[in-house]
Amino acid sequence: MREFGYQRADDVSGAVALLAADPDARFLGGGTNLVDLMKTGVERPARLVDVRELPLDGIEPTADGGLRVGATVTNSDLAAHPEVRRRYPALAQAVLAGASGQLRNMATVGGNLLQRTRCGYFADPSRPCNKRAPGSGCPAVTGEHHNHAILGASDHCVATNPSDMGVALAAFDAVVTYETLDGPGELPLADFYLPVGDTPDRETALPPGALITGITLPPAPVAAHSRYRKVRERASYAFAIGSVAAALDIEDGVVREARLAFGAVASRPWRAHAAEAVLTGAPADGDTFAAAADAELAAARPLPDNGYKVTLMRNLVVAVLTELTEEAAR
Ligand SMILES: Cc1cc2nc3c(=O)[nH]c(=O)nc-3n(C[C@H](O)[C@H](O)[C@H](O)COP(=O)(O)OP(=O)(O)OC[C@H]3O[C@@H](n4cnc5c(N)ncnc54)[C@H](O)[C@@H]3O)c2cc1C
Ligand code: SF4
Repeated sequence: MREFGYQRADDVSGAVALLAADPDARFLGGGTNLVDLMKTGVERPARLVDVRELPLDGIEPTADGGLRVGATVTNSDLAAHPEVRRRYPALAQAVLAGASGQLRNMATVGGNLLQRTRCGYFADPSRPCNKRAPGSGCPAVTGEHHNHAILGASDHCVATNPSDMGVALAAFDAVVTYETLDGPGELPLADFYLPVGDTPDRETALPPGALITGITLPPAPVAAHSRYRKVRERASYAFAIGSVAAALDIEDGVVREARLAFGAVASRPWRAHAAEAVLTGAPADGDTFAAAADAELAAARPLPDNGYKVTLMRNLVVAVLTELTEEAAR
């Protein structure tokens, strides 16, 4: 690892100023992703600005009935919080499905949102990669891509976003808040991650040097009836090869409201609007659930080795929605 400076920030404005003063500096959350990438030389910051001690570690109800989660809340604390478990159970389940207990104790909400893809070419500086070295090419398209994107990718990059937490946040319309030298700002999660296009190196719409201060979960009664299901290649901790966050409100056997988001299939958590449109107002049964999955997956453009994800996601959607329906009937 190359030498780097380290400074702990005491307050939000100080953290933002420290980063602005050094264009080669990076914020440090739990370090569980950034430090790994520094070891391999993918990331080469000259200075780390540690934000873990900032007063952004609270989880509080908002006046309108939502929840506000600070950026330095650890994944463990987020998943264990009683109001998260009661009001947004799929979020707690998603966080618990990610990484290991030790990692979740270190990892923060801000860092989880900005964790980088697990594409093997990205992680290997000896290989070309448009995301790491713009214009160098994407070896994954003709190479190893069994765990890459089937939705919303481009010829320039087919990597997936690895976050489990982000999938539940997408289903619940979370809003990311941040601070810059020019003052605070916010981005709905739907606009936070940029489409891949021909600039896969530009991953988010965050202004340069912005410090994520937290996320706001708007009130969503449907979220109390939600679930996260993740498929991975081994039972012990591993990244998803496909996942679903789903919430259903059913009345008299008919879906009144549905929320659905997919993970590990696109460069960002994938909100399944086409599927939601099929579900809303339809009978809560297997035929509807399969039709909803098919509507969303009609846009899938799999590569030779990841077509299995289309079937996997279809089955996952039907299974999770069926479980939620059975739960509602109890
Ligand atoms: C073995 C292993 C298995 C894993 N498995 C999973 C999994 O199954 N599912 C999953 O979702 N994740 C998994 N992870 C990833 C883990 O969740 C992330 O590493 C973690 O969430 C990143 O959070 P952090 O606070 O450690 O971020 P850091 O590593 O500190 O930072 C990550 C990025 O965020 C930036 N950053 C941090 N905080 C802020 C802030 N407040 N404002 C602006 N920028 C900020 C940093 O500069 C850096 O670019 C795994 C990680 C490992 C090592
Ligand atoms: S898929 Fe994206 S991250 Fe992976 S090699 Fe191609 S450009 Fe790089």
